[in-house]
Amino acid sequence: MNSYDKHYYDGAWQASTGTDAVDVISSATEESVARVPRGTGEDVDRAVKAARRAFESWSRTPVEERAQWLEKLSAAAKERSAQMAEAISHEVGTALGFSTKVQAEFPIMMIGMNAKFIREVSFEQELGNSLVIKEPVGVVGCITPWNYPLHQVVCKIAPALAAGCTVVVKPAEMAPLSAFMLAEAAHQIGLPKGVLNIVSGPGRVVGEALVSHPDVDMMSFTGSLAAGRRIASVAGEGIKKVCLELGGKSAFIVLDDAPFDKAIPAGVNNCMQNSGQTCSAWTRMIVPRARHDEAVELAKAQFAKLTMGNPFDKATRLGPLASAGQRDTVLGFIEQGKKEGATLVAGGGRPADLPTGFYVEPTIFANVDNRMAIAQEEIFGPVLAVIPYDSEAEAVRIANDSPYGLAGGVWGGTPEGALAVARQMRTGQVDINGGRFNTLAPFGGYKKSGIGREIGPLALEEFFQLKSIQR
Ligand code: NDP
Repeated sequence: MNSYDKHYYDGAWQASTGTDAVDVISSATEESVARVPRGTGEDVDRAVKAARRAFESWSRTPVEERAQWLEKLSAAAKERSAQMAEAISHEVGTALGFSTKVQAEFPIMMIGMNAKFIREVSFEQELGNSLVIKEPVGVVGCITPWNYPLHQVVCKIAPALAAGCTVVVKPAEMAPLSAFMLAEAAHQIGLPKGVLNIVSGPGRVVGEALVSHPDVDMMSFTGSLAAGRRIASVAGEGIKKVCLELGGKSAFIVLDDAPFDKAIPAGVNNCMQNSGQTCSAWTRMIVPRARHDEAVELAKAQFAKLTMGNPFDKATRLGPLASAGQRDTVLGFIEQGKKEGATLVAGGGRPADLPTGFYVEPTIFANVDNRMAIAQEEIFGPVLAVIPYDSEAEAVRIANDSPYGLAGGVWGGTPEGALAVARQMRTGQVDINGGRFNTLAPFGGYKKSGIGREIGPLALEEFFQLKSIQR
């Protein structure tokens, strides 16, 4: 893979004011595949100033022109799609087929979709004697995690740029390469300077400098609850708007009258997507007690179909986890599950045939009590907890007994039955009876899963503020 020795801001590749570089590690080989600069607070300051200067003209650029820039950016990113997918498979361990479609092609398409969304926005509204106008928030700082690195960057920059904001992005240190490739695409099309800026480096240095910078008007963050808390409190000091997309511990409720042969494999596939490194993963499968063992057998059968191996092998469905730290965290939770008395029915350790790479076997715990740590805390790995319930009301109570509320699923014998349960779940998204992911639907969390929404036309609203003119 290509290394990068410069940040991208003010429309040019700029030498870092720091001297260090960060190795990007392949999760399958544990070797360095590229390097990026370890930025400093000074780099952030320069990038934010460039974004501030650019905001003056970008915010006044006609909507149609901004839409066209997004379409050009999407087209230029598309030329790099295969390269981006390859980079992400190295960084995150995602199987290449999934990387190609979900990690690269999907976000690239979403850039272009935001052109359509912004063209359809109604910017002005008459309310009594007021003219209410939507205006862009200003300079947006974007901090993103490593699990879907390009997707997370696009979820922020595409609606922000469409709305007329300018951005400074700090990608995750572990998976920064696709953000640099996106900067190459922006440079290639001649996107006006200072509109899209990228500075890489550690969260505690580059991230904190961005959040505390007085010229940043809004922070859009995706990542862990711990970092989200810190970012919200630093942003609060500066009275900045925040949008937070945090963790999840999503529940999949299988109703007694559901077709188990369809529902259980669908639940397993959802939980195991990207080797469980998905914030919206249905990691708690809540099943009727009388059909618990049947559900576990079906889950085991589906697990057996998920071939684990090198992300670049065609047969691979599950790659390694992204880092040694992530692997150790997941193994720690598995040990805790055993100690807490959950029944380990599949997996439970490192695969013996894959000694190199950050692999963890797909793991099922049965007879889980929802109070256990493996049911309360986000594991962010291939671990499924099967939890029995005695009544539908109890199933809903268990699903809602979580600090998080990001996503979820319900499968029932009828759409009406599933919908009635979905309505009672305190969570930002629920898929019923196999409902597919919708690129128009807002995505985001209740409770400690976050503040604000991303994806689709409604995500644009995060990047506007309202001005009322009385006459
Ligand atoms: P982290 O919270 O550790 O990191 C996310 C980003 O924040 C990284 O770029 C990191 O920098 C940066 N960061 C960390 N600390 C600070 C700080 N004090 N100030 C500013 N920036 C900081 O999360 P992970 O990268 O480990 O991602 C996994 C987490 O993200 C999971 O909890 C997952 O659920 C959540 N997530 C949520 C999603 C959602 O949409 N709700 C989607 C995807 C993930 P660096 O690591 O480079 O040092």
